[in-house]
Amino acid sequence: MIIPKESELTPVQLREVEDIVQQYGCKLQAIVGFHRTIYAVLGEEREQVMVNRILGLSYIDRFDAVDSPYKLMDIHSELASHQIRIGKHIMGESPFIIAGQCTIDPANPNYFLETAHAVKEAGAKAIRGGVWKPRTMPYSFQGDDSSMKILVEARAQTGLPIDTEVMDEHQLMVAMEAQVDILQIGTRNALNYSLLRKVGELTANTNTVVLLKRSMSMGPVSEFIAAAEYIAAGGNPNVMLCPRGTVPKMEGYRNHPDESITPLLKEKTWAPVVVDPSHSVGRAKYVAATSLAAMAYGADGLIIESHIEAQKGIGDDPKQAIHPRELAALIQKAEALWALTRNKEAKLAL
Ligand code: PEP
Ligand code: MN
Repeated sequence: MIIPKESELTPVQLREVEDIVQQYGCKLQAIVGFHRTIYAVLGEEREQVMVNRILGLSYIDRFDAVDSPYKLMDIHSELASHQIRIGKHIMGESPFIIAGQCTIDPANPNYFLETAHAVKEAGAKAIRGGVWKPRTMPYSFQGDDSSMKILVEARAQTGLPIDTEVMDEHQLMVAMEAQVDILQIGTRNALNYSLLRKVGELTANTNTVVLLKRSMSMGPVSEFIAAAEYIAAGGNPNVMLCPRGTVPKMEGYRNHPDESITPLLKEKTWAPVVVDPSHSVGRAKYVAATSLAAMAYGADGLIIESHIEAQKGIGDDPKQAIHPRELAALIQKAEALWALTRNKEAKLAL
């Protein structure tokens, strides 16, 4: 919908705008109002260059698109009823809790394997473990290809699906070779459009699920969904959105907790939302409250860092991993909250 600055376009302006939209296979339809006339673009009105050319005209005030910019991730798209399955779990049927260490320590595989068993015991439905890590300093431990064997071993021993972050094409290939169930795209790469598209292309027609973290510098909800659109447009519609905190605006938490974005996402997209409280608050003692807040906001799941002996962990674990004992209590509460907020009968009983 084109809104001119004046009450209507002059005949010369109208011809110029018509000429532009025709070049993109569209037509213009004037909607004459009492005070002003606006102009509907009939056809594919999302063509960005066309929109930019119209916005570049000095006599145009706004271009308001009526169609959603997300052809695949939109709540009304052809994928609206797309179900995401991870192992035996169907997203949306019960809370999906992914838990495990931030980082797999290749020198201490038993910690990871014991943690994997303990989080399963606590009720987790998938195991997380960082094979490769995005570290602020190049001198910090960056992860190691050899940890993939340990992650795969954890799946073999527990029977649970596994999740790890990939940051480049080499890591993507290693993870695909190992048939990792959930590929995590971290906050630092959430705006790396060529990687997002590549992930979509290389995982197309597989059961691989992509867990897309929210970039810590993302603002509008639309920016997050658009990033997911890259993966779906690449060929893989199995995308889940993961709010994990944005650049901190208050002292105390590692990031600015953003679990409250969940209902806003759910109004616009069908994609499941799995909140990461661990990176959001960055301290073990705040993880439980943030997790329950996320469930209350309607999250479909959580991804939580947990370690049997956090002080022996590497990466984020010593400061933000919770013990599997705390995880078990938390999962019980998350399940109760799920029943309370999604089950109509439970609501009536309140
Ligand atoms: C992680 O999950 O350990 C991690 C590094 O996440 P993020 O990309 O959210 O920082
Ligand atoms: Mn971490």
